[in-house]
Amino acid sequence: MERFASRRRCLIPENFFNIRPLLPSLPPPPLHPVTGSPLVPEDLRAIFAPGFVAHEAATETLVPVPAKAMEVLELWRPTPLVRAVGLERHLGVKSRILYKYEGVSPTGSHKSNTAVVQACLAAADGVGALVTETGAGQWGSALAHACTRFGLRTKVFMVRASFRQKPGRKAMMNLFDAEVVESPSASTASGRAASAGDPDHPGSLGIAISEAVEEVVTGGCAKYALGSVLDAVLMHQTLIGQEALAQLREMGCEPDVVIGCVGGGSNFAGLAFPMLGEVLKGRMKCRFVAVEPEACSSLIRGSLRYDNGDCAGLTPLLYMHTLGRDFVPPPIHAGGLRYHGMAPLVSHCVASGLVEPLALGQDEVFRAARAFLNAEGILPAPESAHAVAAAIREALEAERQGFAMTILFNLSGHGLFDMSAYAS
Ligand SMILES: *Cc1c(COP(=O)(O)O)cnc(C)c1O
Repeated sequence: MERFASRRRCLIPENFFNIRPLLPSLPPPPLHPVTGSPLVPEDLRAIFAPGFVAHEAATETLVPVPAKAMEVLELWRPTPLVRAVGLERHLGVKSRILYKYEGVSPTGSHKSNTAVVQACLAAADGVGALVTETGAGQWGSALAHACTRFGLRTKVFMVRASFRQKPGRKAMMNLFDAEVVESPSASTASGRAASAGDPDHPGSLGIAISEAVEEVVTGGCAKYALGSVLDAVLMHQTLIGQEALAQLREMGCEPDVVIGCVGGGSNFAGLAFPMLGEVLKGRMKCRFVAVEPEACSSLIRGSLRYDNGDCAGLTPLLYMHTLGRDFVPPPIHAGGLRYHGMAPLVSHCVASGLVEPLALGQDEVFRAARAFLNAEGILPAPESAHAVAAAIREALEAERQGFAMTILFNLSGHGLFDMSAYAS
């Protein structure tokens, strides 16, 4: 079998894949945070650009990729599908281990996929600026880059713990002309309430989201952009899985298990949902594993119920696995996985038995990252390293039981901006 799928023969998909029409059942609908009644598109338009709201409400299986977004996506897509021959040898396993590498994007993670689409839709709607939050910095820099491409301004509320630990990410956002604010900040009511006089409050994604949403609803021509969790964001990421399906076909193999790390659920769903679609149509058979950090495991330790996406309760109520909206996650290194909630669609797939959850400890994850770096020459993002560790577990378990399988995981980003995490 070839080590790489050719990048020239694989085309960028022309449509996003919407799993909703294929699912045997759907999760309960989002609710208005104040009235508690099911959300209508008009509610969402108070926060999001209309084009994005249309994607969120899409009912068809295929939704066209906007032509102007395609022009930017072509900078790095299709991304490579690589067989991790070095890792297979290092582990001494018969199984094939494949990874889809999203670290080749301009800011080093899969987040650029939805960032470009959201900026494109907002620009087409005449929006002047996008406001958002960022935990580890990947989403903020992806959005900042996308906004420069479409002539939009960007304002990013960055979780204080990362703001202080990752000056490189902040500098990168500034290079893209984004305004970066340390969160909790003194400039919003949510920020002031959260820090309650503690100037060193470490912040959380939930708090930063509250600040960004508050800024949008009280401000002028800006809209809010979210980097994960929502159905539309997951749908944008399905370019990953559709490309992978074509690349697998070219390589002549089918996965037995598909793995992704999950923070809000978007890179996992992006790889898995197009394949889950094939499984639901009876055309393919495979397992799906969603990997979380033990320290912030919403799928295994959280409860499935309605909760807000933010800390102050300004966002819609989503039916999802949650650790509670005021959960302040421990300062683990995989910043992008430190979120109290989970995408409703991923939660629903776990609850209905279509996806298996797995929680891994930090030591095992860092050992896996190191093994991958030495065997494959790529330093995974600390988030992606959870998927690497799960792939290694699957390969070793298959070996112990004396069989070989094909394991596919999403390498959602590289870790070159996370050297402080690796250093400590
Ligand atoms: C943000 C991030 C994640 C977690 O977010 P998801 O929406 O679950 O994908 C994972 N990996 C990387 C590299 C990230 O930047």
